[in-house]
Amino acid sequence: MESPSLQEGGCVCKKIRYRISGSPLRVTICHCTWCQRRTGSAFGVELVFEKDQVVFQSDSVSVYRRISDESGRWLDQKFCNTCGSNIGLTLEAVPSIQSISAGSLDDQNWSALAGLDRRHVFVRSARQWSAIPDDVEQFEQHFRV
Ligand SMILES: [Zn+2]
Ligand SMILES: [Zn+2]
Repeated sequence: MESPSLQEGGCVCKKIRYRISGSPLRVTICHCTWCQRRTGSAFGVELVFEKDQVVFQSDSVSVYRRISDESGRWLDQKFCNTCGSNIGLTLEAVPSIQSISAGSLDDQNWSALAGLDRRHVFVRSARQWSAIPDDVEQFEQHFRV
């Protein structure tokens, strides 16, 4: 099975669109309390790419910068200021990375997603009502600490 080399995605209102070339490095499922708030859900699901794999096709991408109270480093969250969708993150700690919020992809059946390394991080603050499978990698905090 061949996966198409180009993938596309964007926000709910379509003001922000992006194009991705190549496959994600992995998927990070983050159970930190900040991701719970920014997504309004139990965790954030981020596909991790090298920055040059992702091209944003709109100049209207908004950024919210959050400074971690633990590390003091910044994390930029890209979002749409019309519909409020989360689009992805860049981190001071790992400058080569652009993550993409998994739900913003157009093709949720993209074959490259099936075999990805899945890392559940910050499981120390996972919600009791969200079950984590036993057969996945789990980290109390981040694997990069
Ligand atoms: Zn939008
Ligand atoms: Zn998080």
